Amino acid sequence: MSSEADARTHDTVILGAGMSGLCMAIQLKQAGRHDFVILEQSAGLGGTWWDNRYPGAHVDVPAPLYSFSFAPNPRWTRRFASAPEIQAYMRHCAARYGIEPHLRLGCQVTAAHFDADAGLWHISTASGRALRARFFVCSTGPLSQPRWPDIAGLDDFRGDKLHSARWDAGADLRGRRIAVVGTGSTASQLVPPIAAQAAQLHVFQRTANWVMPRPDRRYNALDRTLARLPLAAALVRQFWYQVLEWGRRGFDEGTLARRAMLATASAHRRRQIADPALRARLTPPYPLGCKRIIYSNDFYPALTQPNVELVTAPIERFTADSVVCADGSERRIDTLVCATGFDTVQLLSSLQITGLNGRTLRQAWRDGPEAYHGITVAGFPNLFLMLGPNTGTGHTSTLLYIEPAVRYAIACMQVLQAGGQRWMNVRPEVMRAHNLALQARLEGSVWTQCRSWYRMDSGKVVALFPGFTGEYRRAVAQPVLADYVFG
Ligand code: NAP
Repeated sequence: MSSEADARTHDTVILGAGMSGLCMAIQLKQAGRHDFVILEQSAGLGGTWWDNRYPGAHVDVPAPLYSFSFAPNPRWTRRFASAPEIQAYMRHCAARYGIEPHLRLGCQVTAAHFDADAGLWHISTASGRALRARFFVCSTGPLSQPRWPDIAGLDDFRGDKLHSARWDAGADLRGRRIAVVGTGSTASQLVPPIAAQAAQLHVFQRTANWVMPRPDRRYNALDRTLARLPLAAALVRQFWYQVLEWGRRGFDEGTLARRAMLATASAHRRRQIADPALRARLTPPYPLGCKRIIYSNDFYPALTQPNVELVTAPIERFTADSVVCADGSERRIDTLVCATGFDTVQLLSSLQITGLNGRTLRQAWRDGPEAYHGITVAGFPNLFLMLGPNTGTGHTSTLLYIEPAVRYAIACMQVLQAGGQRWMNVRPEVMRAHNLALQARLEGSVWTQCRSWYRMDSGKVVALFPGFTGEYRRAVAQPVLADYVFG
């Protein structure tokens, strides 16, 4: 066990080896900043793609947009890449940019506190290791803490209990009686392959969601050739960028995009579900766009299989071997699969982060997580969040928000280095004004019209950026020095 006295000091410590941590690592190297480590609690690289290895997992945006702009991937085999392909892409990037020696896997950070005199973050891990860093980058993202359903008897269930975000690759689903709780993006992906293996599958739906066709296809030799030509790869990426930005218009009432998306979703439902009663139960009760739209060609057909039942009666409790619903019905099961999403509101709550004057991030975020452009937090100098509050997107690839945030953080590091200061802290009044303006824009928006992981129980939308991607990119193009206090 190393003590604080012999702690190693790095320029930067990155927490989390998902897409944003990897992007930060690569860009640090590109900027000539080689003194960093990535601390990752899992046994492998991948972040959410490491955790979410459930059957059928794939990205829900076209793969050319789910690759770094600086590293197009000619190896995608289809437009909507699978989780294993994305992991392979990440491993390839880590090797190509020399990131592997910086990775510390199986390393769980428990606490970090900022020493203003030294201008250093002191970081401790579960194994007792201590590190110091000038800059602390938290890139764990909002989709890292699995949320189990708050339903009575969950602990009484004696069969196999799985959460989609902590999938047990050894789980055998063949010939089993299975319950899937949830019908969000994740459930829509895992229900079809589970239905193909299960003896009986009960899908428990609390809220029906909007489902659109997924324009998926295998990539052929021409696609792979184009992906190797930088200009062609950039054009394909730009095409999908524009298509998805157009989709953002669909979140605003009265737009042509919205009318087209509503018509497409209704036609998809009619085409794929012949039974009007089942179709009615799968018709969303909230406005399109309020939750993440599901793109799937096989979810509805899976629900019409003879061994699959859609249950819309609310679950009352679990017993040792069954699910009991509020209407008194009971279904015996061997396996319970919870596709119930993530705790997105309690960001970074599993570790104690202490900033200036002994104030913790938990205290600062008592009323919900807030940051400046989702990246810096007043009172926590030299801390940079990736995928921080209000930087999520409901319409496009999250990498389009990660890359500008990474550039912004590195620009801040360069400013400090050039000026010879120890730390920079965003002015509280600047952060407050920024968040008041954000929340004013979000008020009355489509995202306030249903319950989702974008919002807190209080109704505050803490996950999403309200505008188009270009607006975020422009806003964080360069840090405005007047927004910060330097020490
Ligand atoms: P989610 O969207 O939060 O969905 C959770 C589901 O569980 C919902 O259907 C929810 O019902 C249900 N649920 C939660 N608690 C419940 C309870 N106590 N009783 C009954 N039902 C309950 O989570 P997710 O599907 O894991 O997706 C989260 C996000 O991850 C997505 O929005 C997307 O951004 C991302 N994702 C991306 C991909 C990809 O790109 N490959 C794949 C999967 C997920 P209610 O709707 O009624 O709350």
